[in-house]
Amino acid sequence: MKKVVKFGGSSLADASQFQKVGQIIKADPARRYVVPSAPGKRDQNDTKVTDMLYTCYELARKNEDFQEQLGKIRKRYQEIVDGLSLKLSLDEEFQKIEANFKAHAGKDYAASRGEYLNGILMSAYLGFSFVDAADVVFFDETGEFDAARTNAVLGKRLEKTKQAVIPGFYGSNPDGTIRTFSRGGSDITGSIVAKAVHADVYENWTDVSGFMIADPRIIPDPEKIDMLTYRELRELSYMGASVLHEEAIFPVRSEGIPINIRNTNQPDDEGTWIVESTCQKSKFVITGIAGKKGFCSVNIEKDKMNSEVGFGRKVLQAFEDNGISFEHVPSGIDTMTVFVHQDAFVDKEQKVVSALHRLADPDMIDIEADLALIAVVGRGMKSMRGTAARIFAALAHEDINIRMIDQGSSELNIIIGVGNEDFEAAITAIYNMFVMVQL
Ligand code: ASP
Repeated sequence: MKKVVKFGGSSLADASQFQKVGQIIKADPARRYVVPSAPGKRDQNDTKVTDMLYTCYELARKNEDFQEQLGKIRKRYQEIVDGLSLKLSLDEEFQKIEANFKAHAGKDYAASRGEYLNGILMSAYLGFSFVDAADVVFFDETGEFDAARTNAVLGKRLEKTKQAVIPGFYGSNPDGTIRTFSRGGSDITGSIVAKAVHADVYENWTDVSGFMIADPRIIPDPEKIDMLTYRELRELSYMGASVLHEEAIFPVRSEGIPINIRNTNQPDDEGTWIVESTCQKSKFVITGIAGKKGFCSVNIEKDKMNSEVGFGRKVLQAFEDNGISFEHVPSGIDTMTVFVHQDAFVDKEQKVVSALHRLADPDMIDIEADLALIAVVGRGMKSMRGTAARIFAALAHEDINIRMIDQGSSELNIIIGVGNEDFEAAITAIYNMFVMVQL
C-alpha cells in the first residue's frame, strides 16, 4: 500500500501543527510520500508565509530594503525548528534566498521558497529524503505543466526512494528557473506525485473534515459529503467550492486514484472520498450545492434566428474575439442568452455589443448584470423524478425569481440563475428542501 499525503498551510502553520502531522504520518507506514505547503495562518489575523514572500520580493524588486520582511519570514521557520528541537541551521538557505532576491530571481522563485523551506524542515523532522520539486516537476516553453516529462522523471526518482518529502506548488522551466502553479497549487503537486508513484490513495489533509453539501458561510454546520465522484467535484469546485484546487483532480483521475480529504485537527474523521465512480448512493438526492455571484447575461434577439444557420457561431465569435469565455448559453426560438463573468465583461461590453451587431445583425441586445449562478449537483439526480420540480418549488416558496435554468446533458447538475441579492436565500431554500427534510 502506498499513500501520498499532502498537508495544507494551516496544517503546517507552527511546530504544534507539525507534530500533529508527524503523528498522522507515523500512524500509517503506507504514508510514504509527503507534499507540504508553506506555513499558513496560525490564526485569523495572521499572514501566510507565501504572502509574506510576495511582499518581501516586491521590495527587493524595487531595490528597496527587504531585510526586515525577510527577517520575519525567517522567524516563522526558526520557531518551527526550535519548537521541534531540530538540529538544523537555515543560515545557508537564507543567505542564498537573500542573494537571489537581490539578483531579482523572480516572483515565482520567491513564492516557492515557502514550500521549499517547509519541505526541508519536514524531511529533517520525519527522517525522509528531500526531493526538490525543481528537479522533478517541469513546465514547458509555453509555461504549461509538462505532464509526460514530470511523470517519467518523478516516477523514476521516487521508485528508488522509500520515503520522501516533495515540496508542493512549484517546479522548473526548461531554462531551470522556478515556476509556480496558481495559488493553492500544492494540491496539484500532491496529485502529480500520486500519479507518478501509482499511489493507492491521495490523502489531502486540510483544516476541514471534507466537502460540505453547501458553503458553511451560508448554511451553518452543513452536512458533510461522504463520497463524490471526480465529475461531481469538478462541477462543484468550478462553481466555487474551494476545498481542493480545481485542477488537482486531473493527474489522479487519469489513474483512477481516489482522493481522501482529511482534517489534520480531527484525524479520526473519515473525511470525504473522491472517486471515479461508485455504486454507493449519496445520502441525499443531491450531492452538493455551490454557486457564484457576479455574472452578466447578454440577451440577443433576432426574428427567425432558429432557422439561420451559423447564428450561434457568429454570436460566440463576438465574445471570442474580445477574449471573453462564456459560461452558459440557454436559448429560445428567437433568443439566445450568453452568461459571462461580470468582471471580465464590464470593460469590454461595448466592444462586444458592436461586434455582435457587426457579426450577427440581431434585432435587439439587452444586458443584465448582478446575477448569480447556483449549481445543484448530484449523480443521483438522473434516476430520480421530480428533482427539478422540488428545486423550483423551494425557490418559489421563498419568493425567489428564477432568471435562468440549464440542465447539463449529463444530468449531473442543474444550474439556476438568480439575482445576486437572492443568492444566499436560494441556496438555503434548496438545502432545506433536500437535506433538512430528510434529517
Ligand atoms: N502556498 C501556496 C499558496 O498559498 C500554495 C499552496 O498552499 O498550495 O497559495
